[in-house]
Amino acid sequence: MADKRDYYEVLGVSKSASDDEIKKAHRKLAKKYHPDLNKDNPDAAEKFKELNEAYEVLSDKDKKAKYDQFGFAGVDPNYGGGSGGFDGFGGFDMGDLGDIFGSFFGGGSSTRSRRNAPQRGETLRQRVMLSFEEAAFGCEREITIGRVETCEECSGSGAAPGTSAETCSTCRGTGTVTQTQRTPLGMFQTQSACPNCKGTGKIIKSPCKKCGGNGKVRKSRTLKVNIPAGIDDGQSIQLRGQGGAGTNGGPAGDVIVTVGIRPHPFFTREGSDVLCEIPISFTQAALGDTLQVPTIDGKIEYTVPEGTQTGAVFRMRGKGIQNVNGRGRGDQFVRVNIEVPKNLSTKQKELLREFEASSSANHTARQGFWEKVKNAFKGE
Ligand SMILES: [Zn+2]
Ligand SMILES: [Zn+2]
Repeated sequence: MADKRDYYEVLGVSKSASDDEIKKAHRKLAKKYHPDLNKDNPDAAEKFKELNEAYEVLSDKDKKAKYDQFGFAGVDPNYGGGSGGFDGFGGFDMGDLGDIFGSFFGGGSSTRSRRNAPQRGETLRQRVMLSFEEAAFGCEREITIGRVETCEECSGSGAAPGTSAETCSTCRGTGTVTQTQRTPLGMFQTQSACPNCKGTGKIIKSPCKKCGGNGKVRKSRTLKVNIPAGIDDGQSIQLRGQGGAGTNGGPAGDVIVTVGIRPHPFFTREGSDVLCEIPISFTQAALGDTLQVPTIDGKIEYTVPEGTQTGAVFRMRGKGIQNVNGRGRGDQFVRVNIEVPKNLSTKQKELLREFEASSSANHTARQGFWEKVKNAFKGE
């Protein structure tokens, strides 16, 4: 199996080929290698099989994605594993393989030969909403989940205490029965769940009363979630092994908690940086001033220089949010908006007209003028 040809190579298309291109390539080659048209060519049947296998994977969006990521191991559970393949779980840390593998173990891939093979438990997902500050500083939350757990009464066997399950004689414990069909294209074997034991491989004569014989019960559990400081909207925390119990000795699934952050009335967030806008008066902008700027740590003094223009952005280093990996903090960016005053008094209007007239005059005259303006507005 190790010398299998790459599926894209088999179809003679590039990795970026569209669905349509894949379909066309398959149709063309299928005609070329169809066993009925190649009675003298013994290799054709093999090529035809290879071609159909490649097409089966590349024409299926889901399988194609797994193949692109993991190669043959992503689509064929038996690949590279000798007899039994992945079913044995030998030396595999399922947790590390994550959801993609978990889902096709649990999902019952049609190529799996044993129905009672170990299966990973269900992965449960939950969303928690946090305030801006909770996300910035971290917090502890409790979530309540409903999960499948191993029945304590029978330790998961499904058999009433004091009794035990027997191996199904129809399938000899494999949970699968095989039927052979003859078709024009050759012999086909179909595997289906054993009707006698419904695919479990076991017959329970006196079922456990608590779980009704399936060895599992659904329970509601409250879990503590430590939300790290700096977590961002859409990021998740994985609680390993806190999901549904596995089947046939398979590992438990995980709980994935995804965070949503409610908007803050004043701050917005960009990664670990905090952005905000503050209004300043036009005299503050023209003459410069020391402002009380709100930050996530409280108000901090910041001096804007004279001649500050509207839309100017100031950076306050290290005043943003802690990086979620614990290394350093982001910055705060403050954008100033200069407010044009309304409802001016007659005196203020006079002064502004005087300013307009003095704009062409020398610098010192203007400075003296601004002092007057400042006093006029302070005395409001
Ligand atoms: Zn039970
Ligand atoms: Zn059976």
